[in-house]
Amino acid sequence: ELKADFDAIVIGAGPAGAMASSLLVDQGHNVLVLEKQHFPRFSIGESLLPQSMEFLEAAGMLQAVVEAGFQYKNGAAFSEKDTYSYFDFRKKFSPGWGTTYQVQRAQFDKVLADCAQAKGADIRYGHSVTAFEENNEQVQLSVSSATNTYKVTAKFVLDASGFGRVLPKLLALEKDSALSPRVSLFTHIEDQITDPQFDRNKILISVHPENKEIWYWLIPFSNGRASVGVVLPRELYDNHNEDNKALLQHYIGKTELMNKSLANAQFDSDVGKMDGYSCNVKSLYGDKFALLGNAGEFLDPVFSSGVTIALKSATLAAQVLNKQLKGETVDWQAQYAQPLQKGIDTFRVFVESWYDGSLQDVIFKEEKSDAIEGMISSILAGYAWDTKNPYVKTPTRLKALAELCRG
Ligand code: FAD
Repeated sequence: ELKADFDAIVIGAGPAGAMASSLLVDQGHNVLVLEKQHFPRFSIGESLLPQSMEFLEAAGMLQAVVEAGFQYKNGAAFSEKDTYSYFDFRKKFSPGWGTTYQVQRAQFDKVLADCAQAKGADIRYGHSVTAFEENNEQVQLSVSSATNTYKVTAKFVLDASGFGRVLPKLLALEKDSALSPRVSLFTHIEDQITDPQFDRNKILISVHPENKEIWYWLIPFSNGRASVGVVLPRELYDNHNEDNKALLQHYIGKTELMNKSLANAQFDSDVGKMDGYSCNVKSLYGDKFALLGNAGEFLDPVFSSGVTIALKSATLAAQVLNKQLKGETVDWQAQYAQPLQKGIDTFRVFVESWYDGSLQDVIFKEEKSDAIEGMISSILAGYAWDTKNPYVKTPTRLKALAELCRG
């Protein structure tokens, strides 16, 4: 039998890749991480959910995150015209962390990757995976860096390449998302928010006054800067002539609270754009690979679930792969795909209900019972796998609740 160079190769050193490689080296496996870029590097996706704290803690990465000094976060606020509503995650139904952070991803992702490296993961920055070949015994990847190209082998590959979607593309696993294509424009600003009423400890989600499908985020950081962005149906974006920066500012001008809060903000950085980011795959695993985080399915940014799902997928995949590498029989469908899908499906119902307007009716309804608020808060806090929560067990309950709120 040919001996593989590594027990596992992880493609990508974002949150999913850093966590998976870290957990595998903790179990004594020999792990190579191939990362196309050099860290620190920009990434969108800056508001974490409290559920992610549990995963970071279990992987021994939480202390490094806490010590990095990110912006404390305890909830999510929503505004539409002159209506303001918020969820305090500490009052949630599910047990566990009720607070988390709003993070500059360049720094956050480096903190996690450095943890994995300190534990013994071999991370090669500037090394891009270009091809995948499988035979009976092992997997061979082709790699290209600034100075050379080479081949490397492993018993198993975890694809954590995010929107790079390396294996979905190479193995033709891509499947269209059922969600409509949308465009997002975003940037980092010097926010200059001086209003003492403004709550920096919460993400602020605003809704366009006339079109419920257009929404915005304002994610304050701990250093006086903030991430702002707008999400638009693609056809609306395509019908505009302004450049992206002017368009982002034009749309922010339509909001009430966000526009007022950012009256003195300096838009001093480039505006980024993501187009048609919702994606799916035919299968989350194969004989010698599994897809993690965004390399698998990505729904929508509205509930900030991306990093939480990425860390959950890494946690589950590392558990299954550890067993497999130790010679146990494993079932990737029952032990990886299905349990991961449970939480994604909870979020899917919330995302669909956001865009059909029914969840917005629930959120902006003035009086909610404490019990129901706690259950919704749990899901907004990322506890989408807690089947004790009736809205996780039967996510479609949300429809009935929206009917009630509409009265
Ligand atoms: P990534 O963080 O994307 O990491 C993948 C890594 O793989 C990258 O470093 C990349 O360089 C590397 N790579 C790519 N191709 C190759 C290759 N060929 N070879 C080697 N390496 C490669 N999530 C949240 O949790 N909160 C939010 O507030 C939030 N807001 C969002 C807003 C928008 C507009 C969008 C589109 C997404 C948002 N997300 C948010 C989602 C979040 O960005 C992702 O879910 C998250 O970054 C996924 O992590 P990951 O580890 O799977 O991939």
